[in-house]
Amino acid sequence: MPVRPFDNPSAPRPRLLVVDDHPANVQALYHAFAADHQVFVATSGTQALRLVREKHPDLVLLDIVMPGLDGHAVCAALKADPETADIPVIFVTAQNDERAETAGLDAGAVDFITKPINPRIVRARVKTHITLKQQADELRQLALVDGLTGVHNRRSFDHLLAVEGRRAARSGRPLSLLMVDVDHFKRFNDRYGHAAGDECLKRVVQALATVASRAGDLVARYGGEEFACLLPETGFGGALAVAASALERVHGLGIAHADSPTASSVTVSIGVATTDPQFAGDTAGLFALADTQLYRAKQAGRGRVVGATMERLDTLQGAA
Ligand SMILES: [Mg+2]
Repeated sequence: MPVRPFDNPSAPRPRLLVVDDHPANVQALYHAFAADHQVFVATSGTQALRLVREKHPDLVLLDIVMPGLDGHAVCAALKADPETADIPVIFVTAQNDERAETAGLDAGAVDFITKPINPRIVRARVKTHITLKQQADELRQLALVDGLTGVHNRRSFDHLLAVEGRRAARSGRPLSLLMVDVDHFKRFNDRYGHAAGDECLKRVVQALATVASRAGDLVARYGGEEFACLLPETGFGGALAVAASALERVHGLGIAHADSPTASSVTVSIGVATTDPQFAGDTAGLFALADTQLYRAKQAGRGRVVGATMERLDTLQGAA
């Protein structure tokens, strides 16, 4: 999420939802913000909840005393929904007592402003909370997203692998994992430079995202030039097909790699692993199997796919 400073005229204006059952109050707040914010207004709690879902405001200025759904109920509903829980809510109310304030903060509000409003104060508070929200969003993104390629980073992948592993163990549906390595990437960097290397990785990621594109599929940068594709509800045959498409797509990019012994353009090696019907959530086992298949693909000459299912691994171990 990009930071949108208030003083940058080219940045999108912060989106504000003003909720109050009295038109005069709505107007006062509208005028305080209309010049440099996108302001939406609601005159009832029900309308407010609908507008939050439609307009995705950065902040809500919320009246407490309203007929029907009051401010506390609106705030509670926003906080109960993961989609809207992070939107900061500031209560704006004529009540000026500590009890109301405590109740408002308990309901999940970040701040409290009393009417009649002082436009400078309300602007300062809103600015503070929108900035905090943007910083929190940005930190969350940084913590989970690979900075170069924009896909999940290793930390995010580890978490999602655990989540999908539990889901697969519960549902009995297969889960497949592709480990993808760019062949001879060090030689690529040595010859073409690191900027070209970065560009190459971005394009490989785009190719992977194109083939691992069903709902639930995810692509992650596991490290350096190594990527992972996690394919929920995908059996071994499906995973091999995705891997074959990925191989083709990357080669089809036609990124020249004159120093590659494998091909004249950039290629990848892919290891595929799929859970078996008895899978009980051993994601470390699934990962190790995919990694072993990747190693085998490289040993066999790179630029290819090698795969195994956990079931077959068990069979092999049983036979040994
Ligand atoms: Mg009111």
